[in-house]
Amino acid sequence: MGGFVSLVGAGPGNPELLTILAKRRLSEADVVVYDRLVNPALMAPLAAEKIDVGKLPQHHKVSQYQINDLLVEQARKGKRVVRLKSGDPYVFGRGGEEGQYLRQQRVAFEVVPGITSAIAGLGAAGIPITHRDFASSFHVITGHHKADGTQLDWENIARQEGTLVFLMGMGELGHIAEQLIKNGRASSTPVAVIQWATHWNQRSVKADLGTIETVVETHHIGSPALIVVGNVVSLMDELNPELPLQGLHLLIPFKDPSKLFSKLQDQGAAVNFFKRRTQVPLTFDLPDMLKGGTLVISDQTAFDFFEHRLLDTGYDQRVLSKWRVLALNQAIAGHLKRHGLLVDGYFESDNSLFSELEIVIGEETALGHFKEVKSQKIATYRAIPVNQTIEVGCFHGIVFPSSASVDDLVSGCRDSQKRQLASMPCFAMGKQVVARCQASGIRNIISVNPSIDAVMPAIQSYFKCRSVI
Ligand code: SAH
Repeated sequence: MGGFVSLVGAGPGNPELLTILAKRRLSEADVVVYDRLVNPALMAPLAAEKIDVGKLPQHHKVSQYQINDLLVEQARKGKRVVRLKSGDPYVFGRGGEEGQYLRQQRVAFEVVPGITSAIAGLGAAGIPITHRDFASSFHVITGHHKADGTQLDWENIARQEGTLVFLMGMGELGHIAEQLIKNGRASSTPVAVIQWATHWNQRSVKADLGTIETVVETHHIGSPALIVVGNVVSLMDELNPELPLQGLHLLIPFKDPSKLFSKLQDQGAAVNFFKRRTQVPLTFDLPDMLKGGTLVISDQTAFDFFEHRLLDTGYDQRVLSKWRVLALNQAIAGHLKRHGLLVDGYFESDNSLFSELEIVIGEETALGHFKEVKSQKIATYRAIPVNQTIEVGCFHGIVFPSSASVDDLVSGCRDSQKRQLASMPCFAMGKQVVARCQASGIRNIISVNPSIDAVMPAIQSYFKCRSVI
């Protein structure tokens, strides 16, 4: 069976600026071939094989020919291939050439449009690309014209009344400004440069044609960036969409759907994910369920495996009516509630009764943290570490919603990552999580109540007083 290639637009950066179809194609894909500008937060949750053709083996650029051949080769293996390109696939991304090659090779393909940085990137910095008072058209132009020897028609470009947006132009910024002035534009024409639009490191500057090159240098603005020329730039301060956590880059565990992710994104923070350990169910004997006693649930996933086992054995939750059910913390209690089970209270190691059967249910290694508790322990699953590939140092902070999430990250980190982790601000949601962070060598721990509503203001006040944002 022949495979299929989808040329998919990833949008400008923010992982939620993806179309619904693009999201579905990504979840169905066998292999995703992606570019340098695609946000890693989009890639982290995907099950597909991922091939990075932007970051290059030994820093050699993967040529367009190699990319074309790779797409054909993967499709001919019968795979569903997503070619993921930043913005819209047909806006300066060589997507058109890839489509032509696929057609020539008789490989079936489709295009899934994306939100282009050439429009959305301006909006993210407070610039409407058109406005009744300032611009009634816009022109998207490559600034990288020298590579193929062709010259832009500067006379024509300079004459346009509409907004000019240059992509791939940072190496030519001086030349662009000079040509526009030479061809009749006033040197006082407003210009903005926006780098990494909709990413956590979005920054922008505003100047005019005469001064923009110096201003960009002074503020160390670099590629990828959009150069915007025209009077719409004057609206930038008024329309700048300021959010309380803008500019903040946080690391959280991946869990779908995550309320924490949505809350952070809504407040303007950019979020990436670390991987969770692989969960392998264990076979275990159930206690005499009809007898009753106390059941301590130390971990949400452990409960899920326990519940499956109950059902497989012919019991359902009614059998727990004889049991006192204790959760380790509020998050676990909330999880149990969603499964139709209300807890009788919270577990404290010093309130064990010992007079009756008491069982702690958890993950195999994590149960080692209950050494001092004399109860019977039942491991319902084993969590196997996975290599964490993220660059810990490029985040401002990490949020740990559970003790298991601390183990997820720490167990998969190399020594160099662990050293960075040690001094990184870590928001630990609950007492046990604080203890697990300490035991894992993390020193900069901010203790917060285990609720999402408590963590948001804690993050805001921590970073506000340190003026990272
Ligand atoms: N297909 C893409 C453009 C690819 S060309 C799109 O539709 O957005 C690459 C150029 O796009 C970069 O050099 C830069 O000029 C621009 N660009 C892409 N993403 C950007 C972003 N998030 N912020 C600023 N510029 C971006």
